[in-house]
Parts: sequence; structure tokens; C-alpha cells
Amino acid sequence: MLSKFDYLRPKTLEEALNYLREKDGAKILAGGTDIMVLLRRNSEGIKHIIDIKDIQETKKLEYVAGEGLFIGASINVNQVAEAEAVKNKYKALSEAANALASYQLRNRATLVGNICNASPGADLAAPLLVFEALVEIAGPNGRRKVKINEFFTGVKKTLLQRDEIALGVWLPEVQTGDKSKYLKQARLKGHDLATVGVAVRIDAANKPYIAMAAVAPTPIRLSRLEETLADKGLNAESVLWAEKEVRSHIKPISDVRSSAEYRLHAAGVLLKQGILALLKKEGN
Ligand SMILES: Cc1cc2nc3c(=O)[nH]c(=O)nc-3n(C[C@H](O)[C@H](O)[C@H](O)COP(=O)(O)OP(=O)(O)OC[C@H]3O[C@@H](n4cnc5c(N)ncnc54)[C@H](O)[C@@H]3O)c2cc1C
Repeated sequence: MLSKFDYLRPKTLEEALNYLREKDGAKILAGGTDIMVLLRRNSEGIKHIIDIKDIQETKKLEYVAGEGLFIGASINVNQVAEAEAVKNKYKALSEAANALASYQLRNRATLVGNICNASPGADLAAPLLVFEALVEIAGPNGRRKVKINEFFTGVKKTLLQRDEIALGVWLPEVQTGDKSKYLKQARLKGHDLATVGVAVRIDAANKPYIAMAAVAPTPIRLSRLEETLADKGLNAESVLWAEKEVRSHIKPISDVRSSAEYRLHAAGVLLKQGILALLKKEGN
């Protein structure tokens, strides 16, 4: 049974920020797919739920040529997966969106909720990391944008303050020839978080980007590995090197989904498969 709580549905951002400031034990709700599970135990003592889906700024999904893509906090994961700009330009993100849970769940779950929940295995975090996304945050002192690689601070922790709302995510423009991929290993399709998730991207200047989910306390970008791989040059030989080397860049744990040893192995295999697939591909 769910615990008791007040349900608030502000019409404006200002109203939502006021609720957050005034109400003790308030929590934001977007799709509710994580928070409803939390409300059964309610170990956090949630007393007020603030549904943000009527706030205009959160409903925007917009691509502007030369600038990039904005995905608002009320945009659900199916809308992300089906957006033309995402399919054409940010392929790894559309693949990750399609890999998240089931169609029904994706109709509720939001991209922003996925990163705010900050599970180490969040599927949408790794593609956002390789596209160097920015999270736009609104709070009592105005708005700020933070880099996605600074957003996650620990297991289920972000740098969001309790009186702040993530308004959406910005993905910078990518050039023609940019290509990317998301590969997910999971126990069950449609019902499970990743055992390992790997996003890879090769930009138009042939620079590699690598990010992973479920191999560390937070989703992570593997910048040192990217640099050495770039120095070696992207080819079959360097990819085999990276498959082995990735072990020294991640710190997976053993849990109900997998042993740490399996994750170390799977991370290497998915990384190899991802880069080799991109090397064969024309672009975007
Ligand atoms: C059966 C099942 C299967 C699942 N499978 C997967 C899977 O395969 N891959 C995966 O990654 N996840 C999976 N999940 C987890 C979940 O669906 C995702 O994390 C989802 O994207 C969360 O989005 P939401 O809108 O439902 O978030 P909510 O539940 O509404 O919120 C999640 C958290 O983020 C906070 N929050 C939400 N929006 C904001 C905001 N704008 N500003 C500040 N804080 C905010 C909330 O307060 C809450 O703490 C699964 C969940 C279930 C129940």
C-alpha cells in the first residue's frame, strides 16, 4: 500500500519552486515510475508530491540547427526515442531510450527523471555523457546549467538541491559524420536495469567518446581511455587493446544482476562491439 501524501500540480515554475521552499518533505514527480516504488516504503518520509507536468517550460522538445536539442523534464522516453532529431543526430540516445524497460513504462518515464533518480545503471545517462549534455536547473536564485559529468555525485545522488528543479537537458549540435551507439546487457528485456550499458560515439573529427552505466557508483565517462585510444588511432588493433584496458577504468560491484567479474568482461565486449560497429558505419 502507498503511504499518504498531498498531491500538488502547480501550473507555473514559480508556483512549483514556492511549494518546494515552503513544504517540508516535498518531492518532485515527473513520470512517477521510480517515485511510486519509493512511496511504498517511504523511507524518505515524503509528505508532498509536486507533479511538474503542467509547467510549460518542461514540455518543450526542440531541435535548433546549429545549436542543438533541448529535452524538457516532462518529455517521456518514447517521445525521446521517436523524435526525428534524436533518431537522426543522437543515435545512441534513441537506442538507449528504446532499451529502457517496456513501451508502456516508457510512456510514463521521463529522461530527466532517469538522470535525477541517478541510478548507477540509468540507461539514458551514458548517451548524455558522450554527447556532453548540460542539465538546466531552476532554483530560488535563478537558473544554471551544469555539465552532465558533474551532475552525478554518488549512488542515487546528484548535485540538485532540495529546492531545485531540473528543467531539461541540452545536447549540443553534432556535425555531419558524427556517429554513436548504445549497447545494453540485461537479464530480461523490458523489465530490468542494465547489467552493463555502454555508449560510444565517434565525432566528425574522429575523436572517440565512451561512457558506461552500472560499472561504478555513478554513470561515468571514460575520458582517460578515450584519450589513449585517440592517440593510438581507431582501428581493429586499438579496439582489441581497449577491450582489455577498460578493466582498469571501471569499478563494478557484484549484486543481484551480475558479478563484478562478469561486468568487467561484458564492458570490454560491448565496448569492442560498439566501436567496431561505428567504424563500419557512414555517419550519424
Ligand atoms: C518495471 C520497471 C522497469 C524499469 N526499467 C528501467 C530500465 O530498463 N532502464 C532504466 O534506466 N530505468 C528503468 N526503470 C527506472 C525508471 O523507469 C526510470 O529511471 C525513469 O526514467 C524515471 O523517470 P520518471 O519520470 O518516472 O521519474 P520519477 O519517478 O517521477 O522521479 C524519479 C526521481 O527523480 C526526481 N525528479 C524527477 N524529475 C525531476 C526534475 N525535473 N527535477 C528534479 N527532480 C526530479 C523525483 O523526485 C524522483 O526522486 C524501471 C522502472 C520500473 C518500475
